[in-house]
Amino acid sequence: MIAKLDDPARASAWCAEVRSRGARLGFVPTMGALHEGHLTLVRRAVAENDRVCVSVFVNPLQFNEKRDYDLYPRDFDADARLVEAAGAAMVFTGTLASFFPDDVAAPDGVAGIGSFDARSLRDPGPCALGLEGDLRPGHFAGVATIVARLFDVVEPTRAYFGAKDFQQTLVVRDLARRRGGPEIRVCPTVREPSGLARSSRNERLSPRGRETAAVLVRALERARERWRAGVRDASELRAAMTAVLSRAPIDVEYAALRDPERWTREEPTGALARAIALVAARVEGVRLIDNLRLDAEDAEA
Ligand code: AMP
Repeated sequence: MIAKLDDPARASAWCAEVRSRGARLGFVPTMGALHEGHLTLVRRAVAENDRVCVSVFVNPLQFNEKRDYDLYPRDFDADARLVEAAGAAMVFTGTLASFFPDDVAAPDGVAGIGSFDARSLRDPGPCALGLEGDLRPGHFAGVATIVARLFDVVEPTRAYFGAKDFQQTLVVRDLARRRGGPEIRVCPTVREPSGLARSSRNERLSPRGRETAAVLVRALERARERWRAGVRDASELRAAMTAVLSRAPIDVEYAALRDPERWTREEPTGALARAIALVAARVEGVRLIDNLRLDAEDAEA
């Protein structure tokens, strides 16, 4: 039976006990509404560690749109069953106030972003600049703050993240480097048969919307075709993506290129030595992101 805990303090005690036996502890942070993408992370963690724990917490600090936060799907019991089947030994959740007892002014239930002491937000570092960081003000500070807290609660040997949220993996790697651990493992993006990246937000799309949303990966694949044909100029690769995206009934927020190993706020100029293509768009009002490494089969680390 999986241990199902609804309090970070109890989760911390459970993890401490595991570590005290010298066991390697794998950790997968999530916001729930779990799908095959998350479960791939859990299975990999199970294969590489002695015990695995999963957090399920819809972190209000990283939502810059209240509507997106309110509509985020939540079912802790269903998530617990899924991670148990994937081999995790413990799953935990909590409230914002239970994660940050010193920083939340309002009691549980009314605790929200507004009641959080902004001085306690973490600086997410330079990789938070550009793209997601510019379009979602405060998002990466919210991510860095909760991930740092989760790392302190769990003190894992290794933590697992998905390549789908590429810029997030850079922010988390920076954070782990600064605090001296854990080891960060990044797993390839899991996709639906259409190629659409699996996402909890896909649940909010109509069947037609899901079909439409596959245009994101089509655009990324077009960029990879151009890369393989020898194109190294970011603006030309971007134009190839934009040509695909412009034919679909979606609102594109960006189609962009970066050097995945040297993150820059702006798109690099001149010939790219390495490249990752990234897109963000709204389909039926639902904001989706995706990316594809152009110079490699996947971005696994
Ligand atoms: P979330 O619950 O959306 O915060 O995601 C939790 C973790 O699962 C993050 O590290 C995500 O990058 C990862 N993840 C989400 N979707 C996918 C996917 N389709 N493939 C691989 N990893 C994913």
